[in-house]
Amino acid sequence: MNSKTARRSFHLMAKPTGPLCNIRCEYCFYLSKEAMFPGKKNRADFTMPDNVLEKYVRSYIESQPPGTRELMFSWQGGEPSLLPRSFFEKALQFQQRYARPGMQISNALQTNGIRINREWAQWLSEHKFLTGISIDGPEELHNRYRKDRQGRGTFSQVMAGLENLKAAGAEFNTLTVVQNHNAEHPRRVYNFLKSAGSQFMQFIPIVEPGIGKRTVSAQQWGRFLNEVFDTWAAADIGRVFVQHFDMLLGLHAGYPSSLCTHAVTCGNAMAIEHDGSVFSCDHFVFPENYLGNILDDSLADMAESPLQQRFGAGKKDKLPLKCQSCAYLKLCGGGCPKNRLLDAPGGKLNWLCDGWYAVYEHTEPYFQAMMRALQARLPASEFRRFFIPSPAQKARLGRNDPCPCLSGRKYKACHGQSR
Ligand code: SF4
Ligand code: SF4
Repeated sequence: MNSKTARRSFHLMAKPTGPLCNIRCEYCFYLSKEAMFPGKKNRADFTMPDNVLEKYVRSYIESQPPGTRELMFSWQGGEPSLLPRSFFEKALQFQQRYARPGMQISNALQTNGIRINREWAQWLSEHKFLTGISIDGPEELHNRYRKDRQGRGTFSQVMAGLENLKAAGAEFNTLTVVQNHNAEHPRRVYNFLKSAGSQFMQFIPIVEPGIGKRTVSAQQWGRFLNEVFDTWAAADIGRVFVQHFDMLLGLHAGYPSSLCTHAVTCGNAMAIEHDGSVFSCDHFVFPENYLGNILDDSLADMAESPLQQRFGAGKKDKLPLKCQSCAYLKLCGGGCPKNRLLDAPGGKLNWLCDGWYAVYEHTEPYFQAMMRALQARLPASEFRRFFIPSPAQKARLGRNDPCPCLSGRKYKACHGQSR
């Protein structure tokens, strides 16, 4: 095996400040990782040194299979904006130095937004970083769990960061953690994000039963996504992009999942810590998922190691019986292994299973109609012309009910006409 080039492409997310963060969101799963680095205390201890940065950039580029045209560097944390911009300038220089001819390299930075002042925003815009900003909805919903070290809500600081990004013309998307509180307000959350200027939305469910009361239930998750879907599909297809819906349209069209969580196997999304240690996945930064260190080991070898292969295949191999016979397995893949927490025959079932099932069931007729629109060379937003209510929808519908095609008209005057 060539030890420098992997057989298939993979993603490696970087944690250049380890778990260090300037705020204390109650649900953060990464703050506790500090315990994995005993003796390290301050910012300097947790800053990725230059030799690790250079080796990371170089190995990540060199280990991609031949013909790789695009490569994204994702900077996450902790809070990566705790680092000076000169750190990222060095990263860009290394990227230029080691890029293969014709390879397009991009950068994405995930931030809580608080340190994104005008200078930062301008810099991110100039260097074409895609900035992900974490925001959980309007003030009261956001402040519930996203707090500073003194326990105060961070909403106004985050919004100031967002405004700076917009003013600088920086490309950004929003990442919204869905917890037990904002899950009850899907339309409010969606409309708020839209009015804040977000055209690319990601929703991440919090699943931590037994630890806290913040966990979103499967029913809440299903209701949340379905209501967001209805709001989006009614007016915003092609104008606002919701990561899960993009992925689902692709899956219905027969493409592989664009999100690891619904791919057939895991293993293609590793994480590198500030000290160069590489782990199976951002959600599996545990000693038993340690693959090696970038300074000593070949990244391609780590990506293809038996440990990582087993980790990746485990997602499919450990599917419980319910998933194996589920009509939606192709869309779902059983979900992220970190959320497989429920005892079930044949394995562990995803905590969000009932919610996902409700989403697949509810959205299927719409995605099918979008597919038919695309096949007719029309935009997906023209789905209504091709919409056929599902048998379940028909069974529930009264003639005076709103038409399920989301036109806002009554069923009898829309898709229920003379049918
Ligand atoms: S464990 Fe979850 S987050 Fe990690 S690669 Fe698998 S699906 Fe993705
Ligand atoms: S919807 Fe539930 S049963 Fe079906 S594949 Fe997903 S987790 Fe498994």
